Amino acid sequence: MTDTPRPSPLAYKSRPVVSVKPNLIGRVKCPACGFNFSLKDLERWNGRRHLTCGQRLEVEGDSMRPEIFCVVGNIIQRPRVESKVTRLESNKHFRPGAKVYCFPPLWGGGYDKIKVVGRRRGSGGKYFIQIVIDARWIGNARAQLVYDPYVIDVMSPEWKGDHDSKREAEQLAQMVNGYTFDEG
Ligand SMILES: [Zn+2]
Repeated sequence: MTDTPRPSPLAYKSRPVVSVKPNLIGRVKCPACGFNFSLKDLERWNGRRHLTCGQRLEVEGDSMRPEIFCVVGNIIQRPRVESKVTRLESNKHFRPGAKVYCFPPLWGGGYDKIKVVGRRRGSGGKYFIQIVIDARWIGNARAQLVYDPYVIDVMSPEWKGDHDSKREAEQLAQMVNGYTFDEG
């Protein structure tokens, strides 16, 4: 990649939001550091900041993008019995309580394994990852309207903002809440 050496992220952290216009294939040029990057590049864009330099950006057209309904849940801790003592084990990808956005079923089966988008554990809430996890890690699943431009971008067109999407999200959320770790 050509974006080294990079400026210190601290240099741009407190700067005001700058508006940028993406080109036809969804790439933008960061006005702060001058690098080109794709809005789909998880390593460089988190929906708010150019991660290479830390500059906050507002992408033109984002506010026009329709919000979507989606299954949203929070990562739980898993009860484990070790020599008669119940301990709590955390998910290795997401911190306990982390919000995850669930794709609708992308393959056959009972929606017990789910592709989710969430902010990666240990990244200070900065980096999104997309990963398949066991539905039992997800608690308090519910249908929710999502406004986050990054999430909307990766979840469209699987999820939409219409009534059918809302109903499907409600039904799937119920399914997710039916899966629990029952060892404790
Ligand atoms: Zn930049």
